[in-house]
Amino acid sequence: MASVDNKKNYDGYKAFQYLEPGVDYKEYKLAKEIGRVPAFDYPVSEEEEAIVQEIFRNDTIISMHEHTFIAPEDLTEFYEFRRTGRDFTAYEALSQSGLDVIFENFMDGTAMVTSQAGWKWSDVIHDIGIRYSDIAHQDMIIKAERLEDIYRAKKEGKIAFVGALESCTMIENELDRLDILYGFGIRTMGVVYSEANQLGAGLREPNDAGLTVFGKEAVKRMNKLGITIDVSHAGDKTALDTIETSDAPVTINHAGARGLWNTNRMKPDDVIKACAEKGGVIAIEAAPHSTVTAKHPQHSIESFMEHFEYVANLVGIDHVAFGPDTLFGDHVGLHDVLSGQLSIKSSQKSDLQRVEYVKGLENPAECFPNIVRWLVKHGYSKEDIRKVVGTNIIRVLEATWTK
Ligand SMILES: [Zn+2]
Repeated sequence: MASVDNKKNYDGYKAFQYLEPGVDYKEYKLAKEIGRVPAFDYPVSEEEEAIVQEIFRNDTIISMHEHTFIAPEDLTEFYEFRRTGRDFTAYEALSQSGLDVIFENFMDGTAMVTSQAGWKWSDVIHDIGIRYSDIAHQDMIIKAERLEDIYRAKKEGKIAFVGALESCTMIENELDRLDILYGFGIRTMGVVYSEANQLGAGLREPNDAGLTVFGKEAVKRMNKLGITIDVSHAGDKTALDTIETSDAPVTINHAGARGLWNTNRMKPDDVIKACAEKGGVIAIEAAPHSTVTAKHPQHSIESFMEHFEYVANLVGIDHVAFGPDTLFGDHVGLHDVLSGQLSIKSSQKSDLQRVEYVKGLENPAECFPNIVRWLVKHGYSKEDIRKVVGTNIIRVLEATWTK
């Protein structure tokens, strides 16, 4: 992978190196964080590459949705590994990613420390606490709690981690748990995952009656706290209700366009338009087998960017960004192991052509160099690229966070 000019102050720290493996925790062989699949650089000319490097040197580069842990190499160990509640952040790979700000979504529905089904309050707290403990023992990643953390990351050669959760399921019927999660560093939350919760219906539900009374109260509480609200996994009516109820812009931080690929995981035009009209941003998803199209039924950077251009044409360049939603390890293999927890099968069409991985968008370290190369190659101006890789998201954070 050709490196990008966005140097991070990385001192070689490895996850949990303050502990003794085999004594303090059971060791699992993790996947390779660098070089698991052959490196792929989207082909550009020398002049185009110079522009790419200038963008990484000068602009703030933000991924709106990732899971930056390293999965075990042997995925048959995954459930046992998850029960330990310990995720290993890929610091070395992230130091080469070109990213200045990452929305980190933790274990999410796969936080199964005590539960078989995920989303339990104590498991989510365990997950957040143990990751931030590791982060507190190193200097390259900073926990982003205020806007100033977003602004200073690049200047200081650091990466700002924005704490994100894909659902409010773990708050059950307790509004104050939103305050608790804010106190622990969470700054963006989805209202609901694919299955319904106390707030509303997820995208997998056949009957979506919109936000519940409690859901409306939760949206208002998140507005007051300064939590950015997301509807990526919400059903269409619940998404529209959330956008209408919220006093601040709402995001779709990892999805694509149903106009290009007709599954419930993709967003219809009316939801995309409502999100943009409220001042929000739609960030494009790259997890395997998600953003494919009729023209490109095999998932690739071309099908992914077709979704980007569709949304940009529909609502304008000011309302689109990228939330690739990748991880380190065999993502397709993990989907097979976790298809129940993640509602994968119910949101895929049968005419999709399966891939082993998405070339050029395989993990959080290689996505953005290739996205920027693609944009430069396809004639996007530096100003437009600056918006879609960063300032569109910063605008939403300025409108939704309180500090
Ligand atoms: Zn998701």
